[in-house]
Amino acid sequence: MTTRSIRFRLVVWYAGLLIAIFVLLGSLIYAGLKSYLVRNLGLTQVQRAQQMAETLLANVEKTGEAHVVEEINSWVTPEVNNRFVRITRGDSSVLYVSRNPRDMSFEASQVPTYPKPVTQISWQTEILPDGRGIVVAAVPCQSSSGLHFLVEVGVPLKSVQSILHHFVILLVSGLAVMVAVSIAGGYLLVGHALAPVDQIASSAERISLQNLSDRLPIARTGDELERLSISLNNMIARLEDAVRHNQRFIADASHELRTPLTLVNGELESIVQKSNLSQENLQTLSNILEEVERLRRIVEGLFAISRLDSGEAEKKWLPFDLAELAASTAGQLEPLAEDKGISISSTTPNAVIIEGDRSRFKQVVVNLLDNAIKYTSSGGQVRISVVARDGHAVLEVADTGIGIPLEAQPRIFERFFRVDEARSRELGGAGLGLSIVKSICVAYGGKVEVESAQGGGSRFKVELPLAEGSKNSKLYKNGN
Ligand code: ADP
Repeated sequence: MTTRSIRFRLVVWYAGLLIAIFVLLGSLIYAGLKSYLVRNLGLTQVQRAQQMAETLLANVEKTGEAHVVEEINSWVTPEVNNRFVRITRGDSSVLYVSRNPRDMSFEASQVPTYPKPVTQISWQTEILPDGRGIVVAAVPCQSSSGLHFLVEVGVPLKSVQSILHHFVILLVSGLAVMVAVSIAGGYLLVGHALAPVDQIASSAERISLQNLSDRLPIARTGDELERLSISLNNMIARLEDAVRHNQRFIADASHELRTPLTLVNGELESIVQKSNLSQENLQTLSNILEEVERLRRIVEGLFAISRLDSGEAEKKWLPFDLAELAASTAGQLEPLAEDKGISISSTTPNAVIIEGDRSRFKQVVVNLLDNAIKYTSSGGQVRISVVARDGHAVLEVADTGIGIPLEAQPRIFERFFRVDEARSRELGGAGLGLSIVKSICVAYGGKVEVESAQGGGSRFKVELPLAEGSKNSKLYKNGN
């Protein structure tokens, strides 16, 4: 999963938002719980102090101060119960003060005295110099004869802190579990919601000029993705219309041009054959004838391509032997090669049956051999071979000619592309031969590739699917 994917970003946002809400909520609960617990502790100390004031100090002149001390030591036992108790007389002298608690949770001597005068019941949290906290309640009281006392009762904050500590641990572990669950859940949920996007993308990638009539799958979910695929399908339909229109125009135009060009060609040839022409006129007419012939070949090429583009080629699917076709075509072009001093050889050990339009594949072989002969100089070699390999028919045409520069190789299958325009024109090429080869191969589910080095010859490799039923046998007998 890339960090830029919608899935990743959504999950991060979702998890981030949940964490923020959880932390905020946790902090609020923490603060509320802390204030509740401390207040509760403070009020409990107030109650205890009041109890002590009522039971021990109300009649102190009768029972005596020693009795107070004795009672506190025997019944309240502050040191054992980890409490702080201090009773101060009205003149600020201390009647009783407890010693350090057994658990040493605070230092009794560090508990500060209340600022005077204390007129009403109160409690507060004190942070002692050593950093530890204690909640102390102060209750002023008066004996029956009017003596004033201040009763202070305190407990360490430790118990509250330990509850809060446990709460924080619970909160953090809950947060970790929640983040993990929310990331996993969010990841699955978003993945499920975005699955149609992957389908749309991979279907869109499969649509090309050859299958423009295909459409994207539409998940009937009623959501934005359904709308997106419908809009994309409408766009593809409009593109298809435009492309078909274009193809029809090229097909019609080239078709219309064929007849007048053939007529002009015929007329010019008959004029050239007349013997009463001057040498100068004869030369001019021959040049015109050559150009007309070139024009005718371009028009024928365009016509062939437009028919392939419109899917007409795919109508004919008949089995035939590609090896036999290659060998016989090489034989037919042998005189042409010999005229240029080039040797041509074919290697077709077994029949290789494919399905398609034989005449179109003849054009493939002719175009490749024609180029090999055209771009190889005298003394060179041209080899053609057809074999069955890995469930495919593989046709190779190799030559020892001038080769194709590396930077031009990706473009040689484009329409009207010529490596060296002047040189190709001289040789009669219009840059359509290889694009016709490619269109035929693609129309029949195959592909064509080139391997070449400038000055080091070229090797064109065509791969086509074998005919059904031929795929399983290793040897292909001449069956066609
Ligand atoms: P053209 O009809 O001009 O030959 P093609 O489409 O058949 O057009 O080929 C395109 C270009 O590829 C040509 O201009 C030529 O330069 C180059 N080419 C094709 N086949 C070969 C080859 N066998 N050896 C060298 N160059 C080649």
